[in-house]
Amino acid sequence: MKRVTIAKGDGIGPEIMDAVLSILKAAKAPIEYDEITVGKEAYEAGHTSGIAPESWDIIARNKVFLKAPITTPQGGGYKSLNVTLRKTLGLFANVRPCRGFHPFVHTLHPDMDLVIIRENEEDLYAGIEHQQTPEVTQCLKLISRPGCEKIIRYAFEYARANNRKRVTCFSKDNIMKLTDGMFHKIFDEIAPEYSDIENDHYIVDIGAARIADTPENFDVVVMPNLYGDIISDITGQISGSVGLAGSSNIGMNYSMFEAIHGSAPDISGKNIANPSGLLQGAVLMLQHLGHGDVGETIQNALMVTIEEGIHTADIFNPEVSKQKVGTKEFAQAVIANLGKKPHHFPEASLPKGNVINIPEPKRPAPQKRELLGVDVFVYWEGKNPDELGDKLAKIALKNLPLNMITNRGIKVYPNGFDETFCTDHWRCRFLSDEPIEFEDVLKTLETCNSNGIDVIKTEQLYQFDGVKAFSMGQGQ
Ligand code: NAD
Repeated sequence: MKRVTIAKGDGIGPEIMDAVLSILKAAKAPIEYDEITVGKEAYEAGHTSGIAPESWDIIARNKVFLKAPITTPQGGGYKSLNVTLRKTLGLFANVRPCRGFHPFVHTLHPDMDLVIIRENEEDLYAGIEHQQTPEVTQCLKLISRPGCEKIIRYAFEYARANNRKRVTCFSKDNIMKLTDGMFHKIFDEIAPEYSDIENDHYIVDIGAARIADTPENFDVVVMPNLYGDIISDITGQISGSVGLAGSSNIGMNYSMFEAIHGSAPDISGKNIANPSGLLQGAVLMLQHLGHGDVGETIQNALMVTIEEGIHTADIFNPEVSKQKVGTKEFAQAVIANLGKKPHHFPEASLPKGNVINIPEPKRPAPQKRELLGVDVFVYWEGKNPDELGDKLAKIALKNLPLNMITNRGIKVYPNGFDETFCTDHWRCRFLSDEPIEFEDVLKTLETCNSNGIDVIKTEQLYQFDGVKAFSMGQGQ
């Protein structure tokens, strides 16, 4: 018996969780559970992250968490519980299998059967945002080597454990050469270790277009956080069954399983919600716990129920459905079908006793880090970049000259175009050919300050083992 944590959440959460628990019980899933309260009730009790402090102890003890959707309050300083859970528990991988139930649930892509593996902790979701000038805001995109290693290795291990043939990487490394470049580079480093699995890479824009058009050509697809957030919703939608899909959030020590949909307040309390998404989340949990055999029994029963045309309102279609049922009745139909095999769909086949363990990521070998300069970000309301550039060029240290100025990344000094639109936010690069001391950066800042330059932020420019580790200006 494994002990897990459950939370019934908000909106339709309690109805679909009760339905799922009744199916787990009938299937004799070897689990026991502790229940915690998350979401609206916890927010209203004054816990701004939607969870009471004592609930963390239960989550920490049981390690595995089945969570129904919650309603995130808008504004008012509330934090998203999902983001808090993912980050606090180190749930670095979000896994979303997407397949259709054609012809019983309408989709234009009857043969799609792919898995999106989304990095879950980094990228633009680090939540580091600033307003720097009246006109300009920024959000930092952080991609780390250990973060890439964990998610990419997990994608290959997942493919191997689930008998999948290919792992595809999506990135935008033609533009973001350092951040997405690192993701792609580490993919290329790790892929050869899995010679039994094919691998390829797409720039995310064409990759997303191809997934939307011919999803059946993809198998396992791994990508950074933001792309994964968007593309996994697209694949959920085009499979015809957002209400049917589950997802897992996997970390080194903890894991969380859920439906991909939200708390659907519009239909809450009416016994009409489809419990299949959370049930699929529970099947992923059983698989993760090494009880893939019970997961298979439940998934087969779910497919038989869908084949029999016993459908909740969201997927009911008079042309193929036989009976419109409520949440409870749907669960009862699944229970009645436990032990049966589907006729139309292939039988479920889940890995058994095969929990994916990945090693702690390797720390990189020590590298020689040398300081070459500094990007000084300046708030300036002038319009002519030459005016700012000539002034900075004159006051710059001899050994740390002004190299260029960009505005929103586009080079505007020296030799900019008059047509380039400029905001009040200027990145002024002081760069040396030879390594410099940090003292030189401080002196540059002091000089800027004493000459009335409004410095809003700085970013040091390094080379690692002799390789410059910063991007050029666009147009440079
Ligand atoms: P939603 O997924 O709750 O609902 C979108 C539409 O799909 C609604 O019409 C709803 O009735 C329908 N729907 C969703 N699940 C269904 C089901 N199981 N059966 C039948 N119909 C279903 O998305 P939303 O309306 O944008 O969000 C509602 C709330 O849920 C928001 O507060 C949002 O923040 C939250 N949310 C939570 C999670 C989570 O906890 N993991 C995820 C997404 C959204």
